[in-house]
Amino acid sequence: MSLANFTKTEFKNLFRKPATEKYPDGPATYKDTTRGHIENNMDTCVLCSVCQMRCPTGAITVDRKAQTWSIRPFSCIQCRRCVDNCPKKSLSMAKEYTKPDVVKSQMDFELSDRQKAVLAEQARQAAERVAAAMEERKKAAASAKQTKDGEAKKSEDNKTQ
Ligand code: SF4
Ligand code: SF4
Repeated sequence: MSLANFTKTEFKNLFRKPATEKYPDGPATYKDTTRGHIENNMDTCVLCSVCQMRCPTGAITVDRKAQTWSIRPFSCIQCRRCVDNCPKKSLSMAKEYTKPDVVKSQMDFELSDRQKAVLAEQARQAAERVAAAMEERKKAAASAKQTKDGEAKKSEDNKTQ
């Protein structure tokens, strides 16, 4: 760049707005595509553990018994794999970065009461279906035995005649 061009650019810059944001004097702004942190909607999560299995860093823990979903934000590398694989579209990537901390904490989230009721009802219906299927199997086995016994008796009668 020649000295003339350099001087011209410098002169223009005197009257331009700064190219950088004023952070930390003003709030930081994030682009829509920013990968900040993971959020879970505990109204739709079904605790299926797919996110836990797919997370490459083991940042997610699902506890079906305690009905909680947990994440260690400082172990998360914002790869979005959990978001893309959640069958209920329960996970999302929020734009804001996790705030710095002195401990690598874990954040625990409990299922909402509504979702707990939904899962309990689903479990009850599944148990009913299993019980009905077992009853059907028992009936089929009893009927097959009855047929077999009948045929055996018939063949016995034929032999004695
Ligand atoms: S967040 Fe999605 S993938 Fe993870 S446990 Fe809940 S429903 Fe399953
Ligand atoms: S974004 Fe990646 S590293 Fe972070 S919790 Fe999801 S799968 Fe794990």
